[in-house]
Amino acid sequence: MTTQAHFLAREDFQTLIDVLTEAGYRCLGPRVRDGAIVMEAFTQAAQLPVGVHDRQSPGSYRLEQSDSSRYFAWANGPQALKPLLFSPREILWRAERDAAGRLNFVEVHADAQKTAVFGVRSCDLAGMRVQDKILIHDEYQDDLYRARREVLFTVAVNCSHPSETCFCASTGDGPTADEGYDLLLSELEEGFLIGAGSVTGEAVLERLPVDRASDRQHFVAAQQAIHAAQVQTRKLPAKVEQVLLDNLEHGRWQEVAGRCLSCGNCTMVCPTCFCHQEVEQPQLDGQATEHLREWDSCFTDGHSYIHGMVIREDTEKRYRQWLTHKLATWVQQFGNSGCVGCGRCIAWCPVGIDLTEEANVIAGNVDD
Ligand code: SF4
Ligand code: SF4
Repeated sequence: MTTQAHFLAREDFQTLIDVLTEAGYRCLGPRVRDGAIVMEAFTQAAQLPVGVHDRQSPGSYRLEQSDSSRYFAWANGPQALKPLLFSPREILWRAERDAAGRLNFVEVHADAQKTAVFGVRSCDLAGMRVQDKILIHDEYQDDLYRARREVLFTVAVNCSHPSETCFCASTGDGPTADEGYDLLLSELEEGFLIGAGSVTGEAVLERLPVDRASDRQHFVAAQQAIHAAQVQTRKLPAKVEQVLLDNLEHGRWQEVAGRCLSCGNCTMVCPTCFCHQEVEQPQLDGQATEHLREWDSCFTDGHSYIHGMVIREDTEKRYRQWLTHKLATWVQQFGNSGCVGCGRCIAWCPVGIDLTEEANVIAGNVDD
């Protein structure tokens, strides 16, 4: 775990943006767009969501303005790091017909641009670790993901304002970060505790006008972290993996299917979901085609299509597939849970379905 031994005053925060920009990074950070916090390009600290809080609950996400001078007094928005690394839609290869009518296959390279992301949460880092394990840690490497991952610089910020939907404290993925970042901040009223978690982060830190952090500042940051964990009320049931696999015929699957719209929002906002489909996009004149990868969801018809049939034809089977994979068979497959407790699927579900509630009902911890 990095020691945040240094203090960066709020009025010097711009220097961090400038140092990363001079080092060739495109800076992405939290911005308010269409009523939500999203990661977008920025060059000035004043463009960050100063004093903005988020209020999240099942099926609801709202921003509120306060008179706080904090930049990171919110929990999360609909995007984690996933869309920056694992693109929602991208070309994998092209094929072109030459003058003799032969097909030539053209390799596509990632648009990998050095990118520094500000405001990364511990659950976002945990989500990225899960995706790393799927996409670049085994025999089959995803070159497009790897190319972007290698030039990513993360400025993580410990959570001080978790939302009502967060449960990272119970999954062990937050609210403070302990690995996987380049720089780690804890935001205080007057500025930031700051520490480096990588050689690249150390080089950036050396260029900042920092002081030694005081005991009082360390105390305040520690209290914030404790509070951020204590206010979280949601949690998954004990032994959730076994609970779900032992209850594949539980009546709750049918009940939740009566509410679920099979819209796939939960899988789109989830930082760990990786399902995708590959599609052809041929030119009308037949001279070239592009082969694309697009995010898919276990809630679509096509996802469970095998020759001649859709094997999960109804919402009951699709929701059960999602929850049992995320919380149980993912562990068998990858050695870790597919859920990092970010709560996005709860807030962004249009009908407010809450996976912690569903799992606890199935476990018998809450009345059906
Ligand atoms: S399942 Fe829900 S709470 Fe868990 S990581 Fe995915 S979006 Fe976050
Ligand atoms: S659980 Fe909610 S977000 Fe997920 S598919 Fe069903 S209605 Fe959509």
